[in-house]
Amino acid sequence: MYTRALLVALASVLIPPLPALAQQNALPEQNSVTVVMYFEAEHAPITLSHLQREVEFIMEPLDLQFRWRLGKCVANGEVFHHLVVVHFKGRCEMVEYPSWEAASGSLGAAEMSEGKLIPFCRIECNRVREFIRPLVKGESFIQMHVLLGRALGRVLAHELYHVLADTTRHGSSGVTKSFLTPEELVDRALKFQSQDLKTFDRLQVRSFSASGAGDGR
Ligand SMILES: [Zn+2]
Repeated sequence: MYTRALLVALASVLIPPLPALAQQNALPEQNSVTVVMYFEAEHAPITLSHLQREVEFIMEPLDLQFRWRLGKCVANGEVFHHLVVVHFKGRCEMVEYPSWEAASGSLGAAEMSEGKLIPFCRIECNRVREFIRPLVKGESFIQMHVLLGRALGRVLAHELYHVLADTTRHGSSGVTKSFLTPEELVDRALKFQSQDLKTFDRLQVRSFSASGAGDGR
């Protein structure tokens, strides 16, 4: 039982945007979003696969095509439209031992600079893993990784919503809630509510482009 839901926080961390990153006014020629992923530590391929599947399922009403890239595979000079950079902190796999990092604090964050949202997200894999562990501990090893991927995908979808819709707003239900329980991260489908989709309609999905520059993580 969880009476204490954790905050999926919108960070107010002030970090400078990448020098090559620039917001453009022109609409992209394709309705695609490239997610460039950087991993601080190990991640399970099956978890990553289900993370991507969950994000695409949640984002389906927006009619966007997601392209997933590992940061270490991005070449200098590559240009993207709708680019979002995601840093995965900790180990994105169901390791057997409990993390020393308690399941408290934000599970993810959309970064801000000078008071504005920028296309950078952070996902706290250790916290998400420990947050859902009581719910998944009876599952098979593979299923635990599947459910971790689902949970991470829902946290990432929440942060992508902030970035792509350019909003700090939170909804009263669904994936845009500011507080998500472990059950909401792994149980039945978590989707956008109609009000959330209107936010996208009003603001349009933001367009970014950047010269790719992998840093090898
Ligand atoms: Zn939020």
